[in-house]
Amino acid sequence: MAPVIGLTTSGRDERGAHSLPAAYAEAVVRAGGVPVLLPPVGDATAALAAALDGLLLTGGGDLDPTLYGEAAHGSVYSVNPARDGIEVALARHAAQAGLPCLCICRGAQVLNVALGGSLVQHLPERVGDGLAHRVPPRRHAFHEVRVEPDTLLARVVGAGATLGASSHHQAVDRVGRGLRVNARAADGTVEGVELEGHPWLLAVQWHPELTAASDPRQQALFDGLVAAALGAPERRRS
Ligand code: MN
Repeated sequence: MAPVIGLTTSGRDERGAHSLPAAYAEAVVRAGGVPVLLPPVGDATAALAAALDGLLLTGGGDLDPTLYGEAAHGSVYSVNPARDGIEVALARHAAQAGLPCLCICRGAQVLNVALGGSLVQHLPERVGDGLAHRVPPRRHAFHEVRVEPDTLLARVVGAGATLGASSHHQAVDRVGRGLRVNARAADGTVEGVELEGHPWLLAVQWHPELTAASDPRQQALFDGLVAAALGAPERRRS
């Protein structure tokens, strides 16, 4: 049985749609997983958690800063309370239940906040403009990410520098409980975290799905998620 991987989607948008860029599901399929989209409507968190072999928290707009005890900076956009609620609950479940989980961009921020961390609300005011993490208004830039040795991330994508497609204006600030920083940009921005003691939970601030079709190191993140999901079928019944 191919592992079932749940992928979160946008909140209901102005067209009345729940949506997700196709590259996420395509990368999961290349890895041998079955992608299932999880729109943030209703409260099916417990049922979803029991049905999934793995979880992918996807990119999107900003979290509500009140979730980490701050007033919103003027640049905060696309806040969706329904999406925040279900993704924070799913992230906590994955952390506690040992569910294999890959968190991308907004997903990394969700994980950090779900575990009690906080975010830099607008990076240019923290680290300046020397390194572009996004091409205005919301297109991706490419920059190197330095992967820390002796981490799960290093075992998956390899140690040293990797090239990430980057499109964010926020990042991990205070690190959540149990998380370890596993990658940084040259300006010091946290570009990845992982949960110590968890079998397979990785969060990256860049967008591996955008280059995974041509870059095996980026595809390796999806391959690793599906392999971890395949290796732990007992979690479906827990
Ligand atoms: Mn970046």
